[in-house]
Amino acid sequence: MADIKALDKEYIVGTYGRFDLVAESGSGAVCIDADGKEYIDFTSGIGVNSLGFCDPGWVKAVTEQLSKIQHISNLFYTEPCVKVAELLVKRTGMSKVFFANSGAEANEVAIKAARKYSNNKYGDDTNHIVTLENSFHGRTMATITATGQDGYHKDFYPFVQGFSYAKANDIEDLYAKVTEETCAVMIELVQGEGGVMNLDKEYVKAVEAYCRQEDMMFIIDEVQTGVGRTGHLFAFQAFDVKPDIVTFAKGIGGGLPIGGALFSETAAEILKPGDHGTTYGGNPVACAGAYEVLSRIDDEFLAEVRAKGDYFREKLSAVDEVESISGMGLMIGIKLKEKAAKDVVGAALAEGLLLLTAKDKVRLLPPLNITYDEIDKGLAILEKLL
Ligand SMILES: *Cc1c(COP(=O)(O)O)cnc(C)c1O
Repeated sequence: MADIKALDKEYIVGTYGRFDLVAESGSGAVCIDADGKEYIDFTSGIGVNSLGFCDPGWVKAVTEQLSKIQHISNLFYTEPCVKVAELLVKRTGMSKVFFANSGAEANEVAIKAARKYSNNKYGDDTNHIVTLENSFHGRTMATITATGQDGYHKDFYPFVQGFSYAKANDIEDLYAKVTEETCAVMIELVQGEGGVMNLDKEYVKAVEAYCRQEDMMFIIDEVQTGVGRTGHLFAFQAFDVKPDIVTFAKGIGGGLPIGGALFSETAAEILKPGDHGTTYGGNPVACAGAYEVLSRIDDEFLAEVRAKGDYFREKLSAVDEVESISGMGLMIGIKLKEKAAKDVVGAALAEGLLLLTAKDKVRLLPPLNITYDEIDKGLAILEKLL
């Protein structure tokens, strides 16, 4: 274990502040380190392992595909990718899908499509995109620019042009930020990296109405909130809105890299042959994993996610040190009264519990199929620390 850490330090670029844990194996919501110590996982790899570690159905789906064909390129057709696309479209009311490999790439295609739509219709100057303060949209040049947090910007000038930031839950500020040149508004519905900050339903509906009025693309970044995380297949379905473009990534592959964008009828024909592409997009193995994840997340499963989210909230709100709880479903932000979130996360690790932070909050993103037994074990550790 010491060896692995030393080798990491020697050979890997130091962009990550890692926790003191070498993950070796896992099952469900239990991770086992190189010394055989067990941890309850309330992180699911930042909302990625929707079905926990090495779910047997998921492993079977992925390995079966792996021994059929692992990759062929987007110059040919494969079955897993169309099957996932069909499921996504049928269950969201959207029209078409583009597959990418990560959240940032999913947002890149949304940005390109929005710009092309407006450029073609209103001229080249119509290319500005308004995002929200405190948002997070990724780490590529366009998506860090879209990210409304200074912390991600310093040192990387110059940025992609044409982004500005409005205050979340403040529709007047959005009206003020939109100009003749604006082609799209892009928002998260619960800002994840920004501290598990919920957007108000009335605000989101007002954003949609304004996008319709001004013929701007309404883009929702569901990279973190999508694929069952909030207790709905996509959070926009609970906000009662119809976006033009919805991006997804994290939870869909169950642990394999896949992301993408769903386009509504108005947006589905914007991108034409040659406009966009990626070598790995729609990879059959990643799609076989995604198909298993999506097939498992049916209405009954989503009701369970909501029930488990309520259970977490009920238990946590009885803890004196907890000031407030934000988020939706199994996306949970905990604001503490006295203790620093990062100290709690560090102490929890030593006690056998994996947690995340989001800004000044403790953030929980447990596997969507976590059992009540696993929840109780994890919460017992957390309650003791608080
Ligand atoms: C994580 C995240 C991204 C970036 O996804 P990557 O796969 O890391 O590129 C984008 N948007 C939101 C809302 C996210 O939570």
